[in-house]
Amino acid sequence: MKIINFAAVLLCAVLLCAALLSGCAGSAGLSAEEHSAVVFAMDTEMTLKAYGENGEDAINAARTEINLLDSLLRRGSADSEIYKVNADGSFEVSQATAYVTERALEICSFTGGAFDISIAPVMDLWGFYTKDFRVPDAAELGAALDRVNYNNISVNGLTVTASEGAELDLGGIAKGYLSSRIMEIYKEQGVISGIVSLGGNVQTLGTKPDGSKWNIAIQDPSDNSRYIGSVRLADCAVVTSGGYQRYFEEDGVRYHHIIDPKTGYPADAGVISVTIICEDGTLADGLSTALYVMGLDKGSEYWRAHGGFEAIFVDGNNRIYITDGLEGAFESSREFEVIRSE
Ligand code: AMP
Ligand code: MG
Repeated sequence: MKIINFAAVLLCAVLLCAALLSGCAGSAGLSAEEHSAVVFAMDTEMTLKAYGENGEDAINAARTEINLLDSLLRRGSADSEIYKVNADGSFEVSQATAYVTERALEICSFTGGAFDISIAPVMDLWGFYTKDFRVPDAAELGAALDRVNYNNISVNGLTVTASEGAELDLGGIAKGYLSSRIMEIYKEQGVISGIVSLGGNVQTLGTKPDGSKWNIAIQDPSDNSRYIGSVRLADCAVVTSGGYQRYFEEDGVRYHHIIDPKTGYPADAGVISVTIICEDGTLADGLSTALYVMGLDKGSEYWRAHGGFEAIFVDGNNRIYITDGLEGAFESSREFEVIRSE
């Protein structure tokens, strides 16, 4: 891997955060009105902003979509389509659920199973669904892992089938799909500038109302009051997966929610956060989880082989690595290294 050290660019994390949350409504003369909402769904606080005339309608339509997708995809709710697929083994679902399952399966396949939406039996064993956390023993994990194989999930028209004891969990991709949908809804409503932040998922439409790029702060995985830097961009999703986002501790060991489907244990490939940046929020979300499982070296290889996105890795020593397409867009007061495409 060719790596170059770069001098850091000074940037104040607090200001970044303020910039994101204020929507950075900008320079004199550009008076696009800000419309915003905070919604709690998918176990996450979601912040929505849309600028301009139809902003309020756009926010209302987005809110409806959030509630719809939350009800369709919520694994634990007996009314959800995912629940019914898991309970019955096969179920005719809505267009949205079929689409997101198909996209997820593509990512499972492209990532060689680092992303695997049949991870549910293992998540369950660790207690991530009930929050009744515990460390399973090897025999239990082995039995649960026997049921994990995305090839046992299929989509045929609107029928989603899970066979051989497989059970779906779309938690690694649902918010990314939702942020993409909200961008579409904004566009349909005539909004040309907007931003959503759904937990670790940010997606932007167009530029800020003043025509400049958005500045998206990236959480420091070691300190939730700080940022490692920010990326300046327009029309992009910025999705971070991190072991710090959901975890429990037992006997001084931290167990987080991103599982390596090969072992059944929390992924331990040497990274503590992975951020994916690309136009497609669904892809960014699937890949953030997958590259977290892969780690820096395999994740970089995947990026070289497939392209179509950029990435920021933070390793266990808090070192920051960015792919070369982010040069000039990523700003940080810390040192970082650039991963080259060749
Ligand atoms: P994210 O925060 O996007 O990385 O997604 C993490 C969530 O995805 C977890 O809470 C699980 O619901 C699910 N998940 C965990 N491990 C995997 C995996 N290897 N592949 C697909 N989904 C996973
Ligand atoms: Mg994800």
